Amino acid sequence: MKLLRYQKGNLPARQGWILNNKVGPIEGSIFSEFHRLEAEEDLQDIKILPPVLPSKIICIGRNYAAHASEHGAEVPEVPLIFLKPPSSVIGNGDTIILPPQSQQVEHEAELAVVIGKKGRWIFPDEAESYILGYTIANDITARDLQRRDNQWTRAKGFDTFCPIGPWIETDFNPTDALITCYVNNDVRQMASTHDMVFSIPQLIAFISSVMTLEPGDLILTGTPAGVSPLKDGDLVRITIEGIGSLENPVKQERIH
Ligand code: MG
Repeated sequence: MKLLRYQKGNLPARQGWILNNKVGPIEGSIFSEFHRLEAEEDLQDIKILPPVLPSKIICIGRNYAAHASEHGAEVPEVPLIFLKPPSSVIGNGDTIILPPQSQQVEHEAELAVVIGKKGRWIFPDEAESYILGYTIANDITARDLQRRDNQWTRAKGFDTFCPIGPWIETDFNPTDALITCYVNNDVRQMASTHDMVFSIPQLIAFISSVMTLEPGDLILTGTPAGVSPLKDGDLVRITIEGIGSLENPVKQERIH
């Protein structure tokens, strides 16, 4: 099942679901009890919003060996985690803004886990019951600032640096799905989630031993090799087999 948030005209944002190219509203909460109303709105007549408003976004660094080595880094012995602020989230079709502080902003195509229920000290073998579904994320990174700062908050935290969506797929097998990132139709990244160093159950166990996971929180599971700079006018599209495609235009911010 595909779950999304959407808006029609100036009406309030709603939760919904998709059947073929039609969208229907959902009553209740996607994190507890809900029921689906008839899908009768055309997908092209609504604006797709970010599928969740997370309380936090936990990201995994160097979870694909080939990406770690393209930066001359080793794969860590335990998961390397960092946070992106909720204010960095944008949805499908929204614009990634290149800030004037950086000369090297790069895409990072990633599979994102959407947490479905609150949990702490989750065992790997029970991790699946804490997952609502999966979406696509782009862990946009100011690479020059990341190299300059010991902490990555600035490099990873600018507004618009966390495109997610377009929806949550609840029926998805994350163990061997192809992730592809295109910039203006050129393939830049392509790898299977099979190449992750730490599995999703291992990541959920590790993160929840540090902090409570809340419904709607996102775990960005790391990016494969092939990250590359973005420039004004580019169009980034990330496709994950079994979920769909997340597409965002890129624009340079100008200070007046
Ligand atoms: Mg990343």
